[in-house]
Amino acid sequence: MDFQLSEAHTLIKHTAAQIAKDVIAPRAAEVDRTAEYPEDYFQAFRDSELLGITLPEMVGGSDAGTLALAIAVEEVAKYDCSAGLMLLLSSLSTHTIKFFGTERQQKEYIGPIATGQIKGAFCLTEPDAGSDVANLQARAVRDGDDYVISGQKIYISGGPVADQVVVFAKTDYPDPRSLNAFVVDTSMPGFEVTSIDRKMGVRGLPTGVLTFDDVRVPRERLVGETEGMGMKGPLATLNSLRPVVGARGVGLGEGALMYALDYARQRRAFGNPLTDLQAIQMKLADMAIDIEAARLLVYQGCELVDAGKFGPSDGHMLSVAKAYATEMANRVASEAIQILGGQGYMEDHPLERHYRDARQLMIVEGTSEIQRVIISKALIDGNLNYN
Ligand SMILES: Cc1cc2nc3c(=O)[nH]c(=O)nc-3n(C[C@H](O)[C@H](O)[C@H](O)COP(=O)(O)OP(=O)(O)OC[C@H]3O[C@@H](n4cnc5c(N)ncnc54)[C@H](O)[C@@H]3O)c2cc1C
Repeated sequence: MDFQLSEAHTLIKHTAAQIAKDVIAPRAAEVDRTAEYPEDYFQAFRDSELLGITLPEMVGGSDAGTLALAIAVEEVAKYDCSAGLMLLLSSLSTHTIKFFGTERQQKEYIGPIATGQIKGAFCLTEPDAGSDVANLQARAVRDGDDYVISGQKIYISGGPVADQVVVFAKTDYPDPRSLNAFVVDTSMPGFEVTSIDRKMGVRGLPTGVLTFDDVRVPRERLVGETEGMGMKGPLATLNSLRPVVGARGVGLGEGALMYALDYARQRRAFGNPLTDLQAIQMKLADMAIDIEAARLLVYQGCELVDAGKFGPSDGHMLSVAKAYATEMANRVASEAIQILGGQGYMEDHPLERHYRDARQLMIVEGTSEIQRVIISKALIDGNLNYN
């Protein structure tokens, strides 16, 4: 066990921290208010080569690993949780191809996302299939050398601004074993952004409903040599990034604590700064304890992913990290508001935004309840034990 960051990780941390302070912090409130996609964030990430952190070098990524991505995400999420999602999305929209695609597919479809030439999205959720992924209704019907894809995907992060998406559909409906992934360009006939969601938080990264109305794609856009990916496709992709969702929570918690501490130092009550009140001191300490515990779980989860341990029998620690860190972000954001009192409730400060953003984290990439289903199954099966 090594608790020191390597030189490479320290460099990534500094690069992301610089972007966070120079580009993201001054714009975060405006991005939330207007809900306009922050192209300047994307350009800063692209220019600093942060978009391909987990992607192979042979296609233009840096292959620096999941821990490196989590560290970068943590830095930027201190100021804007949408920025953390933007970094994560390059990996979410390509990991299915990285794990299951051919070398040609990796070069052709991951390369442009790794280098920031284009933007991607990951299309799994449907109106009747969220947690219950096996119930997907989208279909891909073989027609000569093509597949014809039809179906609707909802809540797709970055969908409204994507150039290319990975979409999951069944080739032999309703059999979940026939689930396969396809790479679709959003310029293809039949693809449509049907609507853009009006949502509580994480407004810098638009989500929306995407419709696939008989989108015809050539066979080479089926991810992998042959059909047969099944449920392991989406599950491996989601598992590999669960600790990184946790990192968004860690960064958000750190940002909220820093802000509340700064305020508590300045604000006076009963003749003294708030930091002299033991009730406030205890809150600050509890927040720090929570953040530190979450960060260790998240970093451990990243190391597990980088060691290839993100399959069905060893994914439970990734669920522990995701559930703890995202729930921590909600607790810490709430306590930070409490420390500011009435000011905490006002849009003049970033805490109400952090609070709204934190709420998203307990829902995406497997809800907190689904993480507990996975953890309890590992306990009952004996994969997680304390003997
Ligand atoms: C802002 C945002 C961005 C998103 N981005 C993406 C994206 O980019 N791509 C994508 O594909 N999807 C995305 N999603 C979808 C997200 O992954 C789903 O919303 C999530 O998986 C839950 O599915 P659901 O909304 O259908 O809820 P449901 O599955 O209907 O669940 C409803 C409630 O029941 C609980 N529940 C369901 N099944 C069980 C069970 N077996 N045991 C215990 N409790 C259970 C859930 O935890 C939840 O509390 C996004 C969602 C949001 C809100």
